[in-house]
Amino acid sequence: MEAIKAPRGTRDVLGDESWKWARVLEVTRDVADNFGFKEILLPIFEHTELFSRGIGEVTDVVQKEMYTFIDRGDRSITLRPELTASMVRSYLEHDMRRRPQPVKLWGWGPMFRYERPQKGRYRQFAQIDFEILGAQNPLADVEIIDLSMEIFRRFGLSNLQVLINSVGCPACRPAYRETLRKFFGSKTQHLCDTCNERLDKNPLRVLDCKRTECRDQTDSAPSMIESLCIECGEHFAAVRRGLENLGASVSVDNRLVRGLDYYTKTAYEILSGDLGAQNAVCGGGRYDNLAEAIGGPRVPGVGFASGIERIVLTMEAQGAYMGREPHVDAYVVTTGSGAEYEAYMLAHELRAGGLSADMDFMGRSMKAQMKTASQAGAKFACIIGDDEIAAGTVTIKDMETGTQETAPRGVAVEKIKLRKEGSR
Ligand code: AMP
Repeated sequence: MEAIKAPRGTRDVLGDESWKWARVLEVTRDVADNFGFKEILLPIFEHTELFSRGIGEVTDVVQKEMYTFIDRGDRSITLRPELTASMVRSYLEHDMRRRPQPVKLWGWGPMFRYERPQKGRYRQFAQIDFEILGAQNPLADVEIIDLSMEIFRRFGLSNLQVLINSVGCPACRPAYRETLRKFFGSKTQHLCDTCNERLDKNPLRVLDCKRTECRDQTDSAPSMIESLCIECGEHFAAVRRGLENLGASVSVDNRLVRGLDYYTKTAYEILSGDLGAQNAVCGGGRYDNLAEAIGGPRVPGVGFASGIERIVLTMEAQGAYMGREPHVDAYVVTTGSGAEYEAYMLAHELRAGGLSADMDFMGRSMKAQMKTASQAGAKFACIIGDDEIAAGTVTIKDMETGTQETAPRGVAVEKIKLRKEGSR
């Protein structure tokens, strides 16, 4: 029988990578605290309507990418493709409008999209996600963009490009859609099949097609900025002013429209120069009509999401500091036959003393155990053999310097602790 493999588009994050994720989340949590965001933990599956109504029926995500199934109670359920709609659902369900506004929330976890897998693009991937709910003020947009840039700064990332655009609102977008339809109308033979399909329902999406033949056509397309209504125009100018005050280097990109329907006004993305085709590390914007689309009152909001796999890939590509790979402080090495149980007691004492400790269970030779100790990054090897058991001692070997000392069992833990402190 053939061994079962993980489904296409999923990946196992093994021990040599998972500690990097811990670092990403630690930094994210710190920045969330700095900016006054509260973490919330949301379900991984939701009612399908949340996404079909929230994200929009005619988007790629809803039409082609959702993992939807009927559960045993005959409900249509979808594995979440993103977090924003769930955040807004939770805000409405818990009547967070009664709290002082805006409400600032963040969360993280796995998302699911049936996409064509490639480097940096998976069917199950993880995002960190930040949302400011209840604020119309352009400063909220500034804060979201500032926060995402701050997170990347603390990850030690460079070679990033921040792109911003405005996608208008239901007052000014329809006219722009028409302008685009007219503009592309005479160029249909140069556009790809998908763009020809999009032209009818969602011509803005033609702007972000990555195919060269389509990009050649979009180069000279009229820009949304010129079609913005007064309110959207002022909002865009205010966001840009706020970002300029911060000295942030941000470029306006007329083609940035984002794949989800709920965006209004600000849309932005951060691209990494080190990722290849899937180069977006972060995307977000304003979504003032999302709450209404899912059956609530009007709640303006702005937020962003960033993929953890792409953050880690960028950090690796740039050699960014990721903290230290976890290692054991002390590896207990046994010689002689009857030492295993004593060794386990010592490991237990080391752990109870706040140190990380490990030992061999496989009856390997002392040489092999020393090798494992060094592979595990142990700072000390604690050797216990028949002599040590008889004398009630342990031999402590410093793995870096090679020096050895023998100490009574009772003081070995304290000695290792002191030397660990001293070597910091
Ligand atoms: P979106 O929700 O599409 O705006 O995406 C926000 C961020 O999530 C992107 O900038 C990526 O960093 C990440 N992302 C989106 N889709 C995927 C995917 N299929 N695989 C890995 N990361 C993704």
